[in-house]
Amino acid sequence: MKNKKVLDGMTPYKPGKQIEEVKEEYGLSRIVKLASNENPFGHSEQVNTTISHMLEHHIYPDGYATELRRTAAANLNVKEEQLIFGSGTDEIIQIIGRAFLYPGVNTVMAAPTFPQYKHSARIEGAEVKEVPTVNGCLDLSGILSAIDDRTNVVWLCSPNNPTGCMIPKDDFYAFMDKCPEDVLVVLDEAYYEYVSAEWNLRVLDHLEQYENLMVLRTFSKAYGLAGLRVGYGIASETLIRKLDVVRGPFNVSTIAQKAALKAMEDDAFLEQAITRIHAIKQSFEHFLDSIGWDYFESHTNFLLISTPISGERVFQYLLENGFIVKAGEGLGAPNTIRVTIGTETDMQQLQEVLYQLHLKLDKEQSM
Ligand SMILES: *Cc1c(COP(=O)(O)O)cnc(C)c1O
Repeated sequence: MKNKKVLDGMTPYKPGKQIEEVKEEYGLSRIVKLASNENPFGHSEQVNTTISHMLEHHIYPDGYATELRRTAAANLNVKEEQLIFGSGTDEIIQIIGRAFLYPGVNTVMAAPTFPQYKHSARIEGAEVKEVPTVNGCLDLSGILSAIDDRTNVVWLCSPNNPTGCMIPKDDFYAFMDKCPEDVLVVLDEAYYEYVSAEWNLRVLDHLEQYENLMVLRTFSKAYGLAGLRVGYGIASETLIRKLDVVRGPFNVSTIAQKAALKAMEDDAFLEQAITRIHAIKQSFEHFLDSIGWDYFESHTNFLLISTPISGERVFQYLLENGFIVKAGEGLGAPNTIRVTIGTETDMQQLQEVLYQLHLKLDKEQSM
């Protein structure tokens, strides 16, 4: 058939192992999934209270997400017209691709970074220019040099997934000042809520100054609503109007809109979860220090850890012991694993399993 040729050389997103599948395969009774950077403490109780009462699903959602939009605009101190909501940030990435990318133009991004930028760009037929990270951090001068007359979009993920590195504030604004004004810069802040005040780019305060800047945020990560699929973008009214042409009319479900609204109102849940996750991460880092495994400094709820054997092998070992993590090989970061920070108990058990692996590897080495 006459599909886009590029699709023939591409593969669908390979979902991580599902918990039930792993239990059966390895005869395990309990599996802990630390692979997709979800919030181990779930989400605000208020979300349950609201959506459990929603019983009628025969009406289309509000295509403008009016109520959520109003609250989000007020909280973020932007105009309602500066927001676009999507079925996860993933959909907004697709929308940007559809609106800005086509054969003959290119798009610039770091490597490794969030894989959906490249995936959607390739489908649109645009050339993808990747600039290697340096110690896990974005090489902004390398990215600047990669921009040419045919560059339509630059993707900056900060903190970067899978490394966790943040762009320092001064570097970011110096980059914006040098980047051509007709190149769209997409700043993906999926882990924004985990970033400390001193590292916060406070990018919403500068949107008026940079018409070519768009920010992405999500309810999937710290807010704990990954299963409901809501993310959003913030940019100038002009840009949002263009993207809204591409957006499907009912792209965010009614339940997702309500849940996101409630989640946004519950600051206490968010704060507690984040504080707890940071503390668990710190104690996990101490453990890694104690066994001499390196990791990248992370401003998120995950750690990219350098492994003494391949990431795939550590992944497999952990799988057999009841933990699902991500092998770095699949993320463009060989000899690493990416581990989402889980609850205190889950991480304690993970540490015990990793410690056993460490002893085993030490023994093998001394033989
Ligand atoms: C998880 C993630 C997203 C996508 O989140 P959605 O669930 O689609 O909202 C986007 N960018 C980065 C960097 C992520 O880690």
